[in-house]
Amino acid sequence: MARADADTPMMQQYHRLKDEAGDALLFYRMGDFFELFFEDAKTAAACLDIALTKRGDGVPMCGVPCHSAESYLARLIRAGHRVAIAEQIESPAEARKARGSKALVERAIVRLVTPGTLTEDTLLDSGLANWLAAVGRAGDDCAIAACDISTGRFELVACAGDELAAELARLGPAEVIGGEPLAGIEARWGYEGFDSAGGERALKRRFGLGDLDGLGSPGRAELAAAGGLLAYLDATQREATAFLGLPRRVQRSAHMAIDAATRTSLEICRTAEGAIAGSLLGEVDRCVTAAGRRLLGSDLAAPLTDRAAIEDRLDLVAWFSEEPIRRDRLRSALRSLPDLGRALGRLVAGRGGPRDLASLRDGLGGAAELAATLGGQALRPRLLDTLLPLLGGHEALTGALGHALVPSPPLDAAKGGFIAEGFDPELDALRSASSDGRRAIADLEARYREATGVTALKIRHNAVLGYHVEVPAKHADKLLAPDSGFTHRQTMAGAVRFNSPALHEEASRVLEAGGRALTLEQAHLACLTAAAVAEAAPISATADALARIDVAAALAERASEGGWVRPALDDTPCLEIEGGRHPVVERALARGGDRFVANDCCLGASDRLWLITGPNMGGKSTFLRQVALIALLAQAGSFVPASRAKVGLVDRLFSRVGASDNLARGRSTFMVEMVETAAILAQATERSLVILDEIGRGTSTYDGLAIAWAVVEAMHDEAKSRTLFATHYHELTRLAGRLPCLSLHNVRAREWKGDLVLLHEVAEGAADRSYGIAVARLAGLPPTVVARAKSVLAKLEAGRDATGGIAAGLDDLPLFAAAAASEQPADPLAEALGDIDPDALTPREALEALYRLKTLA
Ligand code: ADP
Repeated sequence: MARADADTPMMQQYHRLKDEAGDALLFYRMGDFFELFFEDAKTAAACLDIALTKRGDGVPMCGVPCHSAESYLARLIRAGHRVAIAEQIESPAEARKARGSKALVERAIVRLVTPGTLTEDTLLDSGLANWLAAVGRAGDDCAIAACDISTGRFELVACAGDELAAELARLGPAEVIGGEPLAGIEARWGYEGFDSAGGERALKRRFGLGDLDGLGSPGRAELAAAGGLLAYLDATQREATAFLGLPRRVQRSAHMAIDAATRTSLEICRTAEGAIAGSLLGEVDRCVTAAGRRLLGSDLAAPLTDRAAIEDRLDLVAWFSEEPIRRDRLRSALRSLPDLGRALGRLVAGRGGPRDLASLRDGLGGAAELAATLGGQALRPRLLDTLLPLLGGHEALTGALGHALVPSPPLDAAKGGFIAEGFDPELDALRSASSDGRRAIADLEARYREATGVTALKIRHNAVLGYHVEVPAKHADKLLAPDSGFTHRQTMAGAVRFNSPALHEEASRVLEAGGRALTLEQAHLACLTAAAVAEAAPISATADALARIDVAAALAERASEGGWVRPALDDTPCLEIEGGRHPVVERALARGGDRFVANDCCLGASDRLWLITGPNMGGKSTFLRQVALIALLAQAGSFVPASRAKVGLVDRLFSRVGASDNLARGRSTFMVEMVETAAILAQATERSLVILDEIGRGTSTYDGLAIAWAVVEAMHDEAKSRTLFATHYHELTRLAGRLPCLSLHNVRAREWKGDLVLLHEVAEGAADRSYGIAVARLAGLPPTVVARAKSVLAKLEAGRDATGGIAAGLDDLPLFAAAAASEQPADPLAEALGDIDPDALTPREALEALYRLKTLA
């Protein structure tokens, strides 16, 4: 940006702040507006759809009013921008007093607003956690430090480099930052503070710790990540302190591993289009609090692997399932509670107001009542016994807040009026002095009317004149008379305004008492805020406990709505589902008045790979996904949409959909499909659950069949995971004879009077035929085309029967294990020979090569 030497002091100040703001848009405070200049102005005007203007010197500018700045901020942040807020840190009067009449008001950046560091309700989605994730590295180890400063959650996760992406996908962060760039990770790189020694120091300083043993001695990568995270919070929050609880170290193995591709394909927390409605979360969620909704989202994103912990959650859901009345009562009590966690987050960050304190008062009070009601119940599940004590213990704070605050205080502290009467005698006295003054002013008005005989005389108040007497212009003469006792202040079109000594005196009293009352209120606010902040950790534990109870009651509600059952958990690699349904598809069908056909699935040690064939639109994908979702729901601690389910705990869940549906997007999708399939073959274990839908389809028939064939064999012989494999390659059914733990299944269809009827029933055996042409007809392909296709098919089939078709020779293939053994290590002698280019060798090199070959022989 060009800088003329002739820049005014203001512009010089602007440039200095803009340099500091870097790539963030600079909101430059000028009176009641935030102004943006230069490129920032153009960007913001386009994004916000507001007028772009020019200053006298031609500099582009636009502005937003301070009182509605939040809504503009929200739009800029959502559009991916970051915003630096430069406030006036002294008043114009102070500037003049300190540095003369032309002095420029001092400004400073007080906050950098970024997607991952928000606390304001208007900027946040109440039902979603708002994670800021920092990626750290030490040698080969990687780690993520993640926090949600709107509620104080803080996590450290150590993981291998190739697990980073999956861990980030679990969190779904609003913002990812890091130091040195890492391949394959999308983040803003180049931030400072990502070193382990500095991280350790920063953690100790932040939490006042002598050593980090109490945190479970985080590794060097975790410390580096934490260091970067804390440095970034300091840089963005400036004077304010972001709310952080003690970091919780998350053990990777405590959660079912689910990579990003699987999350997308199963639409766990979002649909492919990014919406919550239509995702599993959207379909399961019956929470009545925003905190519950946030917790349910993170539960579904990270199902557990510890059986006892899952059973604890299920016990609580079962307890709420057994007693609908108890559940209803609890839910209506929860529904009225404010969002404790987020109110606390704002108070800690110094952005809280009287209404946030009222939220603590009401939320903590409500929690205590709940604890009393639930505590009175016999036969409580174990999880409830650990949660109940966390709900109470805030009597001193709620007592103080209850006493101090009016029932519904204003959002903003600026005008006062939030401290209740009777809390502070001094405040009461000031308030009554000020209202006495106001009454005296009213009396004065009556007296002046009588004395002057002007019945239209009024005492008014405005920001410029303060209290003044106003009369219609035609009566002004009486008050203008020299001995009237009134002083002329202002002449308007139809009215004239005056002051008087008596009015001045009363007005000063009102003003002074009011001002002192406001100061006192603010002092009380600061005191109460400090008291609440001192209790941040136990308050946040209460908020978490309420959310856990809400989630359990909501899951019980969902289960009762849909006839879901409690899954039995098992340590063997089995998966038995009777009457399983896909909750999202079932709902979609119900809307159209259609019934979902429930299906069974039974995988175990001796039958762990199901090969599923059948016509397009027959229900293969739906079946695959419903099995995966049922396992996921079970381990998240939810009942499941089935009439019976036994789930052998799953360590990793994989779901891949072949590129067939995305053919239009070109070859690269096939490449992606193969890369992802390779990842499964590398990572899947005997405890994993893998669903593969039409893998190999994104390429020519021969390639595709060959790849699908090899993948099925590798899943069966090597990974040995529980696997559902849907395919339209009928030839694969020949694998049934060769692979003992593979069985054939098909989604049933019938042709009836020339029409195709899809039954959506999963049955044993291979599909008898592909019904492709019948599906095409169902889809409305013109009859002439259908007829032509039929005759082409007949020709193809005749050819196939004569030659054995594309599957000819498949039956003679050696078994996978034998083939893998013979094909793997290529002949080193042949390879070395192949590498030799005789024409490029000197005689001496040729001789050396000969000796080398002899050692390989
Ligand atoms: P495929 O993968 O075999 O092509 P899908 O699983 O995509 O088939 O299912 C196609 C459509 O059939 C779904 O959108 C749904 O409307 C319907 N469908 C699938 N499974 C069922 C079922 N079990 N009961 C009823 N309708 C179903």
